[in-house]
Amino acid sequence: MSAAAMETLRTLEALEREGLVPADPRLAAAAEAMAIALTPEMLGLIRRDDPADPIARQFVPSVAETEIAQGELADPIGDEARSPVKGIVHRYPDRVLLKPLHACPVYCRFCFRREKVGPGGDALSTDEMAAAIAYIRARPEIWEVILTGGDPLMLAPRRLADLLAALDAIDHVGVIRLHSRVPIVDPSRVGDGLVEALRPRRAARWLAVHCNHPRELAPAARAALARLAEAGLPLLGQTVLLAGVNDDPDTLDALMRALVTARVKPYYLHHPDLVRGTGHFRVSIEKGQALMRALRGRLSGLAQPTYVLDVPGGHGKVPIGPGYLGDDPGAAGPDGLVVRDPFGGEHRYPG
Ligand SMILES: *Cc1c(COP(=O)(O)O)cnc(C)c1O
Ligand code: SF4
Repeated sequence: MSAAAMETLRTLEALEREGLVPADPRLAAAAEAMAIALTPEMLGLIRRDDPADPIARQFVPSVAETEIAQGELADPIGDEARSPVKGIVHRYPDRVLLKPLHACPVYCRFCFRREKVGPGGDALSTDEMAAAIAYIRARPEIWEVILTGGDPLMLAPRRLADLLAALDAIDHVGVIRLHSRVPIVDPSRVGDGLVEALRPRRAARWLAVHCNHPRELAPAARAALARLAEAGLPLLGQTVLLAGVNDDPDTLDALMRALVTARVKPYYLHHPDLVRGTGHFRVSIEKGQALMRALRGRLSGLAQPTYVLDVPGGHGKVPIGPGYLGDDPGAAGPDGLVVRDPFGGEHRYPG
């Protein structure tokens, strides 16, 4: 077998046959804790001569996952605490997450829902979906519904169309946002059926794609994104800051440019969450801020994501800088400020 494998790899044995993992019995625990899935598209992007390949690092299990550090959490962003009915997370008054299924096209080893995602099993039943939709229908303050999971584009196009139609029928829902990794990691799924299902009807529909490395935006992924843009979906990008994948200015610079040229507006750069067994992906906030400063000096405003932290415990996301304004210690009055320019220079500004 080679990079031409046509099916998603789902076992340690399959990864071993591809030479992507050693035959190490300790990997069984990592595979047990989270399912494996590596699509042919992503397999084809892995550079076999690079032992630290940033594509492989995201999807291929490693022994480091079995090391649980102090402070790491099973539910790092507190989804459970904010779930009034199965499949719904309601943390902000005007918007809810709706998670129709837990399957994804790939399993990202750093996933903040790594204890929940996996193939099969835990999709909402017909009755549970009806209850989730009834929850939204009964609350006029819910203006935006965010379909996530798992990956909502793993639903069969027909089921996705039915779900979107049910949300379109609720007048107070103004926006339906879908979060997906499918266009990037499994672009062949973005066929006519899926594009038709997604085509906006009444409520505005936005699609946020998860993409962490510029090489993920290969020609097939870019073509899938173009089909979605041409169907009328505004596209947003979300990236997780990950050690050994994208924690350097050149990689982030190339990624943000690649997104914008694929008509994807970078939305969030997520500080990595305190997920159990993901210490090898963690980056300090100080380093994250330095990277954001570097991007500010190098990239168009169109290409700037907001660097955010999801406050553990279900308290919500906040931007974590860096800040460009500070107090001016040399000012005569109480209001003097110092502002830092995009190139690192500092300037006094009257408060
Ligand atoms: C991230 C998230 C949202 C969406 O937040 P935005 O900042 O609007 O993108 C909504 N609900 C929950 C529970 C979330 O985790
Ligand atoms: S696609 Fe998203 S939800 Fe699924 S494993 Fe990756 S990060 Fe987690």
